[in-house]
Amino acid sequence: MNFIGCDKSFDDARVVLFGAPYDSTTSFRPGTRFGPAAMRTESFGIETYSMLLDKDLETDSAVHDSGDIELPFGCQERALEMIEERAAEILAAGKIPFLLGGEHLVTLGAVRAAAKMYPDLRILHFDAHADLREDYLGNPLSHACVLRRCHDLLGDGRIFQFGIRSGTRDERDFMRAGHVTTELFTSQTLARVIESLSKIDESTNRRIDKFPPVYLTIDMDVLDPSEFPGTGTQEAGGFRYSQLVEDMREICAKLNVVAIDNVELNPGLDATGRSTALACKFLREELLSLR
Ligand code: MN
Ligand code: MN
Repeated sequence: MNFIGCDKSFDDARVVLFGAPYDSTTSFRPGTRFGPAAMRTESFGIETYSMLLDKDLETDSAVHDSGDIELPFGCQERALEMIEERAAEILAAGKIPFLLGGEHLVTLGAVRAAAKMYPDLRILHFDAHADLREDYLGNPLSHACVLRRCHDLLGDGRIFQFGIRSGTRDERDFMRAGHVTTELFTSQTLARVIESLSKIDESTNRRIDKFPPVYLTIDMDVLDPSEFPGTGTQEAGGFRYSQLVEDMREICAKLNVVAIDNVELNPGLDATGRSTALACKFLREELLSLR
């Protein structure tokens, strides 16, 4: 089964979905491994047409759903290699890989592939949590460390975080030292960050869109738990859905998004199903916003 409206062939696709149903390092309540499958099933409850965007997945997008990778639970390095391989195949074909988690650690596999293809990669990161720990209970490959591992790869000045409202004093010190650019609680500085990531053409004095390559990673727990309770580490004081959609549209319209992911949906923790329904609708809007 594919996500609704995502039935183009790999060759015809601009965007390729793939699931990484992995949750071995989840620090609190596990179950994100069921995220991608729940989204595919529940996606048949939404329309392929978006009233907000006046676009339809059937006619205005070219998305192939390549299914889930069968990952070895408990073996982080091998799982990350397999995710990297899939993402690299999609990038090498000139398409945008769209990874569905799974816990946030899976992002590292796709970022490794994107960073090899695009050495000047930037990451835009939406999350309630900083995910900048050096290790979590001695494990450097935990979902609580994923952006720190991305920083190891990319270095200073490449990672831009929004909505962060939970972390340790060490993580706060890491932000203050200027290794990453973090906006706590909101995304009010997004417009400034977007501007800083676009480039002025000297000859015409006009801004060049789509520069430099951007990896967009969205930990769905950036949303407020009142709207999105289906996640393992709920954190009060989060974004409204409408805010996240607005931010995502700005990013897709103005920056060169070369790879993207949505992670940390844990469908079993929300018996009402509203978190999965929200995740499906949000994914549709993303697929219709990517260029
Ligand atoms: Mn996270
Ligand atoms: Mn989080």
